[in-house]
Amino acid sequence: MGKAPTYTCTRCHTTGSNRGDWNGIFDGGLLVEVCCPSCQTPEENAEAVIKEATLHYRLSEWGHWTTEPKHLL
Ligand SMILES: [Zn+2]
Repeated sequence: MGKAPTYTCTRCHTTGSNRGDWNGIFDGGLLVEVCCPSCQTPEENAEAVIKEATLHYRLSEWGHWTTEPKHLL
């Protein structure tokens, strides 16, 4: 098991693990903003749930998160 990734909230600069409802905001497939659970609006949280159901999240070797659509079988 590798070390769990940690995130720093881009709004309040809280650092934490990916446990809980952290929300990544992606632009063009790249992670541009990270929101801790207390900084998220209900709308952002709902959007994250939808994206999680439809996108694959991948951490590249150079440390960037990328997304790609899930292919339905
Ligand atoms: Zn925050």
